[in-house]
Amino acid sequence: MTSVVVIGAGVGGIATAARLAQHGYQVTVTEKGERAGGRCDYLLKDGHHFDTGPTLFVMPQIFAQAFADLGERMEDHLDLRRVDPTYHVHFGDGSTLLLTSDLNAMQTQLEAIEPGSFGGFLRYLNEGRLHYKLAFPNLAERNLSRLPEFCSLKNLLLIFRLKLLTRHYDNMGNYFTDRRLKAAFTFQDMYMSLSPYEAPAMYSLLQYIELADGMWFPMGGMYRIVEALMDIAERSGVRFMYNAPVEQINIDGRQATGVTLADGRQMQADIVVANADLPYVYRCLLPDDGMAKRLERKRYTCSTMMFYWGVDKQYPQFGPHNLFLADNYRQSLDRILKDLTLADEPTFYMHTPVRVDPSLAPEGHDTLVVVVPVGHINDAAPQDWSAIQKRARQLVLQRLAQIGADDLDEHIKFEVSYTPRDWLSRYNLTKGSTLGLGHNLLQMGYLRPRNRHARYRNLYFVGASTHPGSGLPAVLLSARLTTERVLQDVGIPQVAPVMTPATTL
Ligand SMILES: Cc1cc2nc3c(=O)[nH]c(=O)nc-3n(C[C@H](O)[C@H](O)[C@H](O)COP(=O)(O)OP(=O)(O)OC[C@H]3O[C@@H](n4cnc5c(N)ncnc54)[C@H](O)[C@@H]3O)c2cc1C
Repeated sequence: MTSVVVIGAGVGGIATAARLAQHGYQVTVTEKGERAGGRCDYLLKDGHHFDTGPTLFVMPQIFAQAFADLGERMEDHLDLRRVDPTYHVHFGDGSTLLLTSDLNAMQTQLEAIEPGSFGGFLRYLNEGRLHYKLAFPNLAERNLSRLPEFCSLKNLLLIFRLKLLTRHYDNMGNYFTDRRLKAAFTFQDMYMSLSPYEAPAMYSLLQYIELADGMWFPMGGMYRIVEALMDIAERSGVRFMYNAPVEQINIDGRQATGVTLADGRQMQADIVVANADLPYVYRCLLPDDGMAKRLERKRYTCSTMMFYWGVDKQYPQFGPHNLFLADNYRQSLDRILKDLTLADEPTFYMHTPVRVDPSLAPEGHDTLVVVVPVGHINDAAPQDWSAIQKRARQLVLQRLAQIGADDLDEHIKFEVSYTPRDWLSRYNLTKGSTLGLGHNLLQMGYLRPRNRHARYRNLYFVGASTHPGSGLPAVLLSARLTTERVLQDVGIPQVAPVMTPATTL
């Protein structure tokens, strides 16, 4: 049987392992942490359940396809609830906007902010739809490992059709005049760690996806996704090892022969798949061939300062997803992405999952996750994370006080906080960049690190820093593309395993 070692049990690693096992490979996943999930993790304390990483479940059709490819139905594993309004947006001047798929409600709100803007909104959504329909099949959902595939005439035309050379924020002038609306429909670019002042207008697809396909939440929290994938992987025969960090990928000539664990154990394998963050793999697990240095010079996504608060009170003004946009939107983004620090007036996000699933906190209490984007770690001019953390906390509490939560600090029962250093040490994320390599034009498609090593032909990559990019849907696509590449190279082993049926109570 062809053996595979997968380094890392993130969502990308588990999904690839399950797919390969179902094709007849003998798969072992070795994970540095004490459980699976990677960045899609949780924290349980005093009856409060926090999703410590992802909180936004978008593009359910990609999840459903991933389950279907594994022979299962998503609805048998995840109890998804639609979240609408998607965001409670709070502008710096105190005004608000509830983003919703309810067009009548959008019309009333938008017309009150800027007369005539509802028409612009509909046209903007339509452009987002066009960008989505063009970008996904052509750029995201297929392997672009050869230059002619990427630079085909069809793709070159996409430069214009996807407005790749137009800045997203400049493009907003075609739809809205009010700067609050321009901000409310571009802030999602930060999920790609791009400022809309430099991101291509193509990223209007993000707003379309959220409002058209909806925002969802799995009851029980985002970790349910990991549990579901683990269940399928284990029943498909995948073996998981925890607290088992890989120290080195063993190489012989042009082949990877397996891995050496930090405790000295050797694992032989015909194929190695690295799910750990790709720049880290080149820097720490492979012989130096200059690639680690080249990757070092690439653009990295921002990091985040996290606050997980168990609160003994509920604030009705908090929706499930709350976004606080700085009045000086551009400056707040520049401080993060250019100055690599905390904005003077931060734009931040807060998740209140109890609004959707009351079981995630004791009755009458709240579970709050605050995500404050900050610059990634800069070794050349090290940041004082402890001072930044204190300042971020103070600014967040001040901002929340402005919407009536002025006694929040007194009601915080406990606090857990992560700084960029935690992202680095927990998951080996280079520079503590929460979303891995950036998603600017020069780091997309063919220009993003490929899912197979150029020299070691049986070493593959899967996950956020490979093609197509970061976010759970993209990582699930990456798992499909990496599996396809392995099958193309190696073929389907002769003996296919039998799926063990799910245990029923
Ligand atoms: C704060 C935050 C918020 C986010 N919000 C969202 C969101 O709302 N929606 C969304 O879709 N996405 C979101 N994301 C992005 C999403 O979480 C990631 O894109 C996705 O989880 C990455 O999965 P992965 O499999 O590529 O990598 P990872 O999750 O990083 O998994 C890699 C695994 O490799 C392990 N590893 C590392 N080094 C070694 C080693 N030497 N040996 C063994 N194991 C090793 C790590 O411990 C980890 O478990 C968010 C991420 C963060 C951090």
